[in-house]
Amino acid sequence: MDHALKAVEDFLPTASPSGLPSLVGLSRDEIATVIADLDEPAFRAKQLWHWIYCRGARDFDEMTNVSKVLRAKLTEAWTLDRPAEVTAQTSEDGTRKWLLRFGDLNEAECVFIPDRRRGTVCLSSQVGCTLTCKFCHTGTQRLVRNLTAGEIVGQLIVARDAFNQWPSPTTERDITNVVMMGMGEPLYNYDNVAAALRILMDPEGLGMSRRKITLSTAGVVPAMQRCGEELGVNLAVSLHAVTDELRDEIVPLNRKYPIKDLLAACREYPGVNNARRITFEYVMLKDVNDSPAEARELARLLKPVHAKINLIPFNPWPGSVYETSTPKAVARFADILFDKGITATVRNPRGQDIMAACGQLKSASEKQRASAGG
Ligand code: SAH
Repeated sequence: MDHALKAVEDFLPTASPSGLPSLVGLSRDEIATVIADLDEPAFRAKQLWHWIYCRGARDFDEMTNVSKVLRAKLTEAWTLDRPAEVTAQTSEDGTRKWLLRFGDLNEAECVFIPDRRRGTVCLSSQVGCTLTCKFCHTGTQRLVRNLTAGEIVGQLIVARDAFNQWPSPTTERDITNVVMMGMGEPLYNYDNVAAALRILMDPEGLGMSRRKITLSTAGVVPAMQRCGEELGVNLAVSLHAVTDELRDEIVPLNRKYPIKDLLAACREYPGVNNARRITFEYVMLKDVNDSPAEARELARLLKPVHAKINLIPFNPWPGSVYETSTPKAVARFADILFDKGITATVRNPRGQDIMAACGQLKSASEKQRASAGG
């Protein structure tokens, strides 16, 4: 390993200095197994669940209704550690970003975006990404690995810790919404993302409603139906182009699942109706995809889908080749969609000064080659 890097490694915290595994991020079934393995009665699992996900306990001694004997047994074998915070930054607009480090020293970012009436946490699903979308910073980082369910849940817990909002509030919470829009393609890590969202949605724990959770995909068509049926969360689709020719180039996943197939899957997405629409994300790239003709074609394509559109002015990053569309081009594009009866909102760039905006996330983690020997 590079010496400079090694020196940094030495003073940054690891996820679990004790080397013991953490209970944070385990499902109800997994906690039940832990309890059974410790020869404890089943009702203890429910208590543990409550302490971890409703109360946000960080120390087994907080668990006052749990016997001292069990607390001692848990302390010997488990922790309540969260992913370690390597850095925590706050933008001038109030957006916050955390770089988190997991037990194997891999790292991913997670973001909190406050708005007037809501606060959204943006979670990562993978370290790196396989998709190589041309305009996306994460796309320049090769996939290192999928995040586990616990590591995905751990990101939300870190954000809740930052607001000190335990027990899980039912009203007046800072974190009202969750978007799976951080690093990675959530539908290429479906099982872990699904397990994480089930933990997040449990009303006796973190209590995030499925209506307040949005999963964004670049269009992994075969997993979309299942996502809607099993999780029932809102769907966002990163469309970004109206022809296969351009989309093949800027979202290479399109070569596998072209626009026609993607839109067919959107039309069939379970639970979608007029009141509950699919969000189509469309990054505005100057002179690449922002012409009036493309706005008209977008409206035509999305007419048969219950759709709303989120226009995202391109967020630059070091080495990116694109430019942001002019405000005039964005406004003209939005007006055309509006005239055609399609709801379009322009996403305000948030947290750009700390590289926390859409498509700017990246971590330094690299896949170790099998032969590199650590
Ligand atoms: N892989 C999933 C989840 C990532 S969501 C997906 O593609 O949907 C992140 C969103 O930000 C996606 O819509 C992505 O296309 C968009 N994005 C990526 N890079 C961007 C950039 N530089 N500026 C604006 N939006 C970007």
